[in-house]
Amino acid sequence: MQNKFELLIKNSQLRGQPDKLYEIGIAGGKIAAIDEKLQGEADQVIDAGGSLVTESYVNTHLHLCKVYTLMMMDDEAMKSYQGSDKTMGKAMTGIELAMQVKEKYDETWIIENVRKAVALAAYYGNTHIRALADVDSKARLEGVKALIKAREEFKGIVDIQVVAFAQDGIVREPGAADLVREAMKIGADVVGGIPWIEYTEKDIAEHVKVIFDIAEEFDADVSMLVDDAGDPGLRSTELMAVETIKRKRFGRSLAHHARAMALYPKPYFQKVSALLKKAEMGVVSDPQTGPLHARVHELLEEGNLVCLGQDDISDAYYAYGRNNMLEVAFLASHLLWMTTRPEMEVLYDMITTKAAECIGIKDFKLAVGNPAHLVVLDVPNTLEAFRYHDAPVHVISHGKLVDSAKMKELGRV
Ligand SMILES: [Zn+2]
Repeated sequence: MQNKFELLIKNSQLRGQPDKLYEIGIAGGKIAAIDEKLQGEADQVIDAGGSLVTESYVNTHLHLCKVYTLMMMDDEAMKSYQGSDKTMGKAMTGIELAMQVKEKYDETWIIENVRKAVALAAYYGNTHIRALADVDSKARLEGVKALIKAREEFKGIVDIQVVAFAQDGIVREPGAADLVREAMKIGADVVGGIPWIEYTEKDIAEHVKVIFDIAEEFDADVSMLVDDAGDPGLRSTELMAVETIKRKRFGRSLAHHARAMALYPKPYFQKVSALLKKAEMGVVSDPQTGPLHARVHELLEEGNLVCLGQDDISDAYYAYGRNNMLEVAFLASHLLWMTTRPEMEVLYDMITTKAAECIGIKDFKLAVGNPAHLVVLDVPNTLEAFRYHDAPVHVISHGKLVDSAKMKELGRV
């Protein structure tokens, strides 16, 4: 039988197979065939010219409602978040200062910024994003509405999971729980919390409980920013894992940041690591956006699921960022000291397959039968991919070529 492909990629270098080049046939949005030589016709042919073809990139943590808001405020919030001694001792003050911009929250200007950031994501081959929108008495549902709108506009190009995120707390922010429920009703996908920001241990536990209650109500996954300050006594990562296990929601929770983990005594770290594994819960680390970070090396050694996130793009917490996950991995390579070639392969997984696993995307691997979410680079290996962290030559999402020129223009690169 003759194959009929919509798209055929020739001369593809696949990861881990340096001595061969492959052809990848795509039909009906899926990878239909992979072989050294494929028989059949194709509507469109791309010659990768011996360059690397891999899964596209997945960004598991992005505060998408806040992108480009740095220009709307002074630098006080960022100074406090990091702390003058870079210990993150005043992270909570930073978050409180960052609240001010939310007085001005309005879907109409937020969507403009969101479009630019999502177009950049597409341009840089980042086809899947778990995006957080603040939900509280100031932001109300303005951020959520803008992100839902963007999710629809970019359908088929960038898959956006909208997280209804109680950034300013649940107990200390009266009405926030109802707003999160409201956000889920109008179409948010994931329930998001930040338990460590509450004032007492009791309130932290209550925050975790409420977030999981809402998640069960809507049969949704949970994403929480845990222990995001320089206090070794913070325990919300543990609480989140325990709650996941108790409610048998294995694989449906994701811990973001967990920066206090850097300061845990070793025996306590070992306990948390074991709980994370039992809960099948991943950890997103964003070492470029704060002076402390989760213990990525040890988590990997223990066999935990770890990935990377962009976290912020020009907001009160981080000045740079352009949704380029190769750039994020390049920075992480330095900050985590993962600079050997085997470690680069691990980093590459942390922005592709492992990241997909962290946010519940099934069948993401470059394999026959899976949806075709791919990038065609202009370099032959991961070392060169990180060195230049350039935009891919071609981005394929749901089996279709992304109009990179249009995305570049929308993103104003
Ligand atoms: Zn964050």
